[in-house]
Amino acid sequence: RAYNFNAGPAALPLAVLERAQAEFVDFRGTGMSIMEMSHRGAVYESVHHEAQERLLKLLGITEGYKVLFLQGGASTQFAMLPFNLLTEGKTASYVKTGSWADKALKEAKLIGQTHVAASSEEDKYMRIPDVSRLELPENTAYLHVTSNETIEGTQYQQYPETGSIPLIADMSSDILSRNIDIKQFGMIYAGAQKNLGPSGITVVVAREELVSSSPSTIPTMLRYDTHVKNNSLYNTPPSFSVYMVNEVLKWIEEQGGIDGVERQNREKASLLYQTIDESAGFYQGCVHTDDRSIMNVTFRLQSEELEKKFIKASEEEGFVGLKGHRSVGGLRASIYNAVPYESCRALTDFMDYFRKTNG
Ligand code: PLP
Repeated sequence: RAYNFNAGPAALPLAVLERAQAEFVDFRGTGMSIMEMSHRGAVYESVHHEAQERLLKLLGITEGYKVLFLQGGASTQFAMLPFNLLTEGKTASYVKTGSWADKALKEAKLIGQTHVAASSEEDKYMRIPDVSRLELPENTAYLHVTSNETIEGTQYQQYPETGSIPLIADMSSDILSRNIDIKQFGMIYAGAQKNLGPSGITVVVAREELVSSSPSTIPTMLRYDTHVKNNSLYNTPPSFSVYMVNEVLKWIEEQGGIDGVERQNREKASLLYQTIDESAGFYQGCVHTDDRSIMNVTFRLQSEELEKKFIKASEEEGFVGLKGHRSVGGLRASIYNAVPYESCRALTDFMDYFRKTNG
C-alpha cells in the first residue's frame, strides 16, 4: 500500500477496504452486490439506518438531532444552508478562516444578507481569529465556522459561544477526529471523502427544529425538510457510499471510538510537528502554533525549488499527496483517521533523511 497523504479523497482503513472486497459481489448471501439492490428493500434500508444510528452514537448524541445523507458534496451545503435558514430580514454570520470559509460565505452572499463576524485574512489565514467575544447582529440566523481549514492547515481548538444563535460548522476535514461536544452545534456537515468514507455522500447532522420545515419557495431537493420527512430516501441515495460509511464507522468503534482515534491522531500530528520544529528551520510550519490542525499538516522549505525536489524524492519513495494545494503552494501531509501511524513514521524518517542530505 502507498503511504497515502492525499487531502481528499483520502486513505481509507485497509480493514474496511478488505471487508468491502469480501462482500462486493455477494452481499451477505443475497447473491447481489449492495450496489445492485433496491434502496426501498429491507437489506439496504437496514444498512442505511445502521449508519445513521452509529454516527449519532459516535458523536455522543442521544436525542434531538437528525442525520441526513445527501449528495452534491459540502459545496452544495454552502448553498443549501442559507437557502433554508437565511430567510427574509435575517443575517447570516460567517467566520473567515480560509479558502473553504470564503467559499461558504460567497454562496450565502448570493442568497441573502451576510456579516463577517471575524477574519484572519490579514494574517493570510495562518491562524484562527479570536472568536471569544464576537458581536453578532441581532437578527443573526446562524453563525458559520469552518472547523478545519483543509488547505491552510488551521483548526479551531475552541468554538465560539453563540447562546441561542445556532452554531453551524463545516466539519468536512475533521469530523469524528476528536472528542467535541456536538450539542454546542445547531448543525454540522461534511463531505465524506476524508474521514467518513468514499466521495459521493455528504453527511448533515442537525437539530430537528432547524431542518423540519423549509421555506416553500425552495426546490424540493434543496429543502432540508424533504430529506427529513423521507429519512434521506426521497430519491435514490448513494447506496454504496452509505454502506462504506457504515463500515468506516464500525472501524472507528473498533479503534475505541472517538477517544481511540483522537489518541492516534494526536500522536501522528505530534510526530510530524516535532520533526518540523526540531529541524532548525529547514522545515517551517505554516500555521501559528496554537491553531495547528491535527488533520492537515502544512509546511514549507526554504525555496520552491527545494520543495519541488522534496516532492519528487518523496514520490520515488512511495509517498503520495504531499504537494500543498495549488492556491497556497508548499507542502501538506493530510493525516486523517485512516492514515496509519506507521505512514507518519515513514514520512518523518524520510524528512530527516532529506534534511541531512539537502541541509
Ligand atoms: N469544506 C472543506 C473544509 C473541505 O475540505 C472541502 C473539500 O476539500 C469542501 C468543503 C468541499 O467539499 P466537496 O468537494 O465535498 O464539495
